[in-house]
Amino acid sequence: MLEHCTLCPRLCGVNREAGEHGFCGADARIRIGLASLHQWEEPCLSGTNGAGTVFFCHCPLGCVYCQNHDISGLDADASGICTDISGLADTFLSLQQRGAHNIDLVTPTQYAAQLTQAIPLARKRGLTIPIVYNCGGYERVETLRMLDGLIDIYLPDFKYYSSYYSERYSRAPDYFDVTVDAIDEMVRQTAEPVIDADGLMRSGTIIRHLMLPNLGSDTAHILRTIAKRWGTEVFVSLMRQFTPCTDLTDYPELLQPITDEAYAEACEQMAFLGLDGWTQDAEAISESFIPHFDGTGVCRAK
Ligand code: SF4
Repeated sequence: MLEHCTLCPRLCGVNREAGEHGFCGADARIRIGLASLHQWEEPCLSGTNGAGTVFFCHCPLGCVYCQNHDISGLDADASGICTDISGLADTFLSLQQRGAHNIDLVTPTQYAAQLTQAIPLARKRGLTIPIVYNCGGYERVETLRMLDGLIDIYLPDFKYYSSYYSERYSRAPDYFDVTVDAIDEMVRQTAEPVIDADGLMRSGTIIRHLMLPNLGSDTAHILRTIAKRWGTEVFVSLMRQFTPCTDLTDYPELLQPITDEAYAEACEQMAFLGLDGWTQDAEAISESFIPHFDGTGVCRAK
């Protein structure tokens, strides 16, 4: 698959085994920025001990406002450390030993081929906690089908309705249609959310929507689409923590906070539509946490 990579909707067709890079910037090596216990996910994922986050380097979406831009861009080869399939499986086991409630794969799409081997290997070595696929939503259904039975919880973003803005901010004018098909497949695989007696999620799909400044109409369309298409088959996480941390000189409209009024309106709409999930209080903006991506917690190839 890596010799002619079509893992994501970019369909680059590059030979990553030969060191070629496509849109995401990843070659055949598994590069990871950080593996750590993380308290900033939804409560049913963070629990008391934290989610076992594995922050992968590179990204097939490349949003201009990315909070993790240190590891998501084409130049991410300067960050994190490389490992192999066995080292990735050991990284999962190490997080489990540290008390993680799940393995939270952050931006995993470009490594989906390696994950089809690493997850079964980790299970064989004793991994019992759920696997979370935490992605930008811009996924190929064919790639998701390869992961059927391996992923317990899907955690996709659902960012844009407008093709103008998905092109402007993520160079993906087809984002909405592609993401609807992808979430259809995720919901088919996981069915309705299951929460255990400790309040931890065991399986299901959580759709995240990060509100962007001045894009209230996209938020309204996204919430209506979720309600109409998946309803209570999914949880919704409505996020207001947008924090500019890249150079957005060319995108001055993004250099504003989400207003309390805009967020309150979206929360009201979410309640009106009968969607179940989480909203954030104002402190979420200052609490949002960007880790230091120095490769800590990653088990190297032996
Ligand atoms: S995973 Fe990377 S190389 Fe492969 S199709 Fe997507 S952007 Fe291109």
